[in-house]
Amino acid sequence: MTREYSNLIGGELRKAAGGGTLDSIDPATGEVWATVPRSGAEDADAAVAAARAAFPAWSRLPAAARAHYLRKVAGVFAEHATELAELETRDNGRIITETAERDLPGMTYLWGSAADQCAAAVEARAVDFGATSQGMTRREPYGVTLGIIPWNSPISTLSAKAAFALAAGNTVVIKPAEQATVSSLRVGELLREVLPPGTLNIVSGLGEEVGDPLVRHRGVNKISLTGSVETAQIITRASADSLKPLALELGGKSPNIVFADADLDKAAPGVTTQAIFTPNAGQICYGGSRILVQRPVYAEMIERMTAIAAGITLGDPMSRDTTMGPIVSREQYERVTSYLELGTKEGADLVFGGRFGPEVVGDPRLAGGYWVEPTLFATEDNRLRVCQEEIFGPVAVVLPFDTEEEAVAIANDSSYGLAAGVWTRDLGTAQRMFRNLEAGTVWVNTFRKVMFPLEGIKDSGYGNDSVLAYTREKAGVFDF
Ligand code: NAD
Repeated sequence: MTREYSNLIGGELRKAAGGGTLDSIDPATGEVWATVPRSGAEDADAAVAAARAAFPAWSRLPAAARAHYLRKVAGVFAEHATELAELETRDNGRIITETAERDLPGMTYLWGSAADQCAAAVEARAVDFGATSQGMTRREPYGVTLGIIPWNSPISTLSAKAAFALAAGNTVVIKPAEQATVSSLRVGELLREVLPPGTLNIVSGLGEEVGDPLVRHRGVNKISLTGSVETAQIITRASADSLKPLALELGGKSPNIVFADADLDKAAPGVTTQAIFTPNAGQICYGGSRILVQRPVYAEMIERMTAIAAGITLGDPMSRDTTMGPIVSREQYERVTSYLELGTKEGADLVFGGRFGPEVVGDPRLAGGYWVEPTLFATEDNRLRVCQEEIFGPVAVVLPFDTEEEAVAIANDSSYGLAAGVWTRDLGTAQRMFRNLEAGTVWVNTFRKVMFPLEGIKDSGYGNDSVLAYTREKAGVFDF
């Protein structure tokens, strides 16, 4: 039995105005397990109208009152953590240990932290211009903000885009990704019970059918997209007529750099399971997909990484024994597997993996799912397409380097600049790398420990989801 989910608009659960639906496919089995609204321009208009109607009352609430609401939301995430973790796993294949032990507890923290920051969002500054003149600034919300989210981490991205915008006094419209929509719509059902009608609206559908009218809508005052560079370019052009401020959190090809002095007991699992394969089968924006290893430990690291990868268990993402799940959709599966052929064609050496299809998972119940083995290519040429393009799957490359300068040069030889990892025991090396790497976040002797704001540089985008980013500063000058 498939369940039909609804949009949340103005506090009501509504089907798409045109009556259309989209199938939600379980990526572990390839089977339809739910349907979601296929919304269009009429639904976009309704969602924006509802958010606009709710804005005056929400924005005028004292910060403490908004914080009270957001704490209730944090409570909802705590109370429904198990259910939401399971939905998220079913929806996009992220393994249950990730959704239940990392994502959902993180959401209770995130909404609580947004509640704590409501007061900071409205802090004013005063400037003394002399005995009879004073300036002051006040922070104001933008109005209606639009959060467009990708499929790879729906609940976390929805939360980052809604919690901080609401904390700052904005009302919000969220457009989930068509490949994984259900968890967002379930969040809508739950939050309908605690937030005033219209403060948070969620409309599902295709990018070009409901995303585009939302982007162009004159009633939307700011857009935050997490997605691909291509979509960011389309949205930037589409929003040009109404000059909306944008925040763009885009892709990556993050270098993960192991120096010869590193603690290899930490670095080997750090660059293999922690940074790329286990987290959502490599379908994470800041996945460490380029592993750079200093030559004296290159052979040893390859050996260690190969042994670790051999211990990865591909399988049912709902099982706690599974350490790597499926690819989210057929389209993404075809994209990822095309890179497996490309890597070999370009002359990279296959270190491990490279197989895909039902046989790599071995469980007949999962034969219709989208399965790719953890795969590592080795090359000395960072200009290969497998080294330059975001594959967004369980595929990494390993490159050797000799000096620190060379490591920096290879790492920065990328159109992306989202994140980087450095593994060393030398504090000087760590500090210089932190300074010299072109990346929005640099992790040293760890990877993926989220620190907000996450903000990229170069083609990884600009802007972020933080409370202050959802406000603008107004200046006033008073002579008396
Ligand atoms: P995508 O760009 O295909 O889609 C993202 C969202 O944009 C979806 O909701 C989609 O429906 C919508 N969209 C598409 N066309 C649109 C249009 N014309 N107008 C309005 N909306 C439109 O990305 P994806 O495949 O869902 O996600 C994967 C990408 O997201 C990868 O590149 C990944 O690196 C990136 N990502 C970045 C971060 C980060 O924080 N930097 C986090 C997660 C994912």
